[in-house]
Amino acid sequence: MACTLYILGSGQDGGLPQFGSRMAPDMAARVDPLAVRLGPSICVLEGDGRCFLIDVSPDIKEQESRLLTLPAYAARKPGNPFDAALLTHAHMGHYVGLAHFGREAANTRGLPVFCTDNMAAFLSGNAPWDQLVSLGNIELRPAGPAQPISPWPGLNVRTMPVPHRGEYTDTVGVSLNEDVLYVPDIDDWRKWPAAREEIGRHSVCILDGTFFSRDELPGRDLKEISHPFIEDTIEFFAKEVKSRRIILTHFNHSNPVCDPASPQARRVIDAGFELAQEMTAVSL
Ligand SMILES: [Zn+2]
Ligand SMILES: [Zn+2]
Repeated sequence: MACTLYILGSGQDGGLPQFGSRMAPDMAARVDPLAVRLGPSICVLEGDGRCFLIDVSPDIKEQESRLLTLPAYAARKPGNPFDAALLTHAHMGHYVGLAHFGREAANTRGLPVFCTDNMAAFLSGNAPWDQLVSLGNIELRPAGPAQPISPWPGLNVRTMPVPHRGEYTDTVGVSLNEDVLYVPDIDDWRKWPAAREEIGRHSVCILDGTFFSRDELPGRDLKEISHPFIEDTIEFFAKEVKSRRIILTHFNHSNPVCDPASPQARRVIDAGFELAQEMTAVSL
């Protein structure tokens, strides 16, 4: 059966426009829906409507509206809006949309939510997330590196730890059917010993493209910035991109590649990489 991955949000945690910003790209995105980039999330949608969500962004409402334009998703029977979800880590762009799963909104019943033990302890030990667990809206299921996940037969999911600032929880990357790799947040490719091995195992890699270059962040201490720069990433994976698709995503609102007509976007494409757009589809 046809199975497709959709990039539901190609923005960094705060999306584009970013709340509180009056930078030119944010002002433009406030009046141009095509320039909007939602919070970071992807899903796997089967032809029969089964849907597996990876990360629950603050923009989950808009992401559901977009999914409802797809016949397979629109044909789902009433009930939980997803069959299962997986969370990569507890930074705001990746899980706070869970609030909409509670009794004030979707009031899901027993939705399996896969995450690491560390993330499960965070959710079940802190309000308001603990209420989702105690009221049975979600059921936490383990998703550690040695715990393969199968939301349904034929969809096999594996997580892997990646280095990323861990104030609240650890962070994982996600492999789907050993074919597509999703790593939206990482501090530095060089701090991840398995980087080349993991990228080498997958035919499509959807990777952290938060910032384009150092120039984008005048006056910021580089030590505070826990992401690789795209201009470094396209050099670091110059060999790997020759034999697979590498799609960059998780763009900060300041990133010039958010404008596909920018010279920086052209440079990325010329280097053989792709730039995620909203609802980019990848066959699985
Ligand atoms: Zn993020
Ligand atoms: Zn993060």
